[in-house]
Amino acid sequence: MKTIAQIAAELQGYDPQALSVADVHAFLQRLVEPVVATQEVGLFQALGRVLARDVISPISVPSHDNSAMDGYALAGAELVAGQPLTLRVAGSAFAGKPWAGAVARGACVRIMTGAVLPAGLDTVVPQEFTTDAGNGCIRIAADTLKPGDNRRFKGEDLMQGRVALAPGEWLGPAALGLLASLGLETVPVFRRLRVAYFSTGDEILSPGDPPREAAVYDSNRYTVFGMLSRLGVEVIDMGVVRDDPALLEAALRAAAQRADAIITSGGVSVGEADHMRAMMQQLGDMAFWRIAMRPGRPMAVGRIARARASRPAGQQEDAAAPDPGAALLFGLPGNPVAVMVTFLAFVRPALLRMMACTRPAPPLLRAISTEALRKKAGRTEYQRGSVSTAPDGTLHVRTTGNQGSGVLRSMVQANGLIVLHHDQGPVAVGDPVDVMLLDGVL
Ligand code: AMP
Ligand code: MG
Repeated sequence: MKTIAQIAAELQGYDPQALSVADVHAFLQRLVEPVVATQEVGLFQALGRVLARDVISPISVPSHDNSAMDGYALAGAELVAGQPLTLRVAGSAFAGKPWAGAVARGACVRIMTGAVLPAGLDTVVPQEFTTDAGNGCIRIAADTLKPGDNRRFKGEDLMQGRVALAPGEWLGPAALGLLASLGLETVPVFRRLRVAYFSTGDEILSPGDPPREAAVYDSNRYTVFGMLSRLGVEVIDMGVVRDDPALLEAALRAAAQRADAIITSGGVSVGEADHMRAMMQQLGDMAFWRIAMRPGRPMAVGRIARARASRPAGQQEDAAAPDPGAALLFGLPGNPVAVMVTFLAFVRPALLRMMACTRPAPPLLRAISTEALRKKAGRTEYQRGSVSTAPDGTLHVRTTGNQGSGVLRSMVQANGLIVLHHDQGPVAVGDPVDVMLLDGVL
């Protein structure tokens, strides 16, 4: 586990007062370590978890060559180019109820989708490409199909003995279905992350508190709760902590004891009267950054050591005892939009890495900006965007009104973030811009 100072020394031109978004990612990549503990869970419990080991396919899926269509199974060798074919229907094969008889030359078998192809037959003619030829026969017009058409091969989805899924795979609905198709009842997954979060600031009210002059109701606790829940981590809600050194210390220590990661909001800007920065510095190994981004900018990152579990009196300290470890700490800014954007840009990828998830982030999409956007080179901007498909099929994007970092409505109305990169300048109407879609993330 590298210290903040060690990581800083590894990074070329590291300047905590002027960090690019790319610098932040490079730093977090070195800071965050994946969990190692695993557990075996039932398939329904595995949704949203991360696979811990290879899953080797115990069977082939499908288990036999079978039909992809409702129609008639035949031997492809009977097809002759330029000539129609008439075949006698010898019997029927249903999914789960195969045709066991032998099939003579000039005969075919009525077959349903998914039914095992009878021995010697390798081609299926869809029902709609046949006509009734009377006397229990069907007729196929010339050149309607090729040998092997509409056949699904044994093991086409998964072959027995092969790796079906690799460790680090995020188990979504498709992966769950695939695991089920192998007949598995349980799967090995990494243990679930525990993430504690609290809001800070003397001006922050909780729901139910009477309104007070110059005070604001806490929204960060709820957006962070929502974003963490979407990630499938175990959340530890610690409410609002007043800007009091003793309360902050107690909250940070309790959070470090219980959680793998801690997320706080507020109190990390330069020139804050708040005690938050000082307390983080005192308890943890921390970096305080000014990031070249908007919204966002101030952010603290580091670790707070977990106290060693107390050992019975008189017992020698065991040198081989597990490392007591430390909780990762993300001190996010206070402004509600800045909290969401820094979470999406940095905390979410860091937590996915900590979950041992190897699935790459979804790619940014390109959309045509239907409005001019002011942008200065030298910082990354995340503007809240409304992305739509134009009649010609291209993606269009416009911003969602007031882009102030406290205006949460801009986030509610957005279905994507317009990512204006570090070196990028102003955007003219009709220019392409990169967009991070929020569907499935928020
Ligand atoms: P700070 O980073 O503590 O200076 O906070 C920046 C701005 O965000 C201030 O206007 C705060 O009142 C506001 N703010 C901080 N925390 C919250 C919160 N939990 N909910 C809503 N607004 C907040
Ligand atoms: Mg404050």
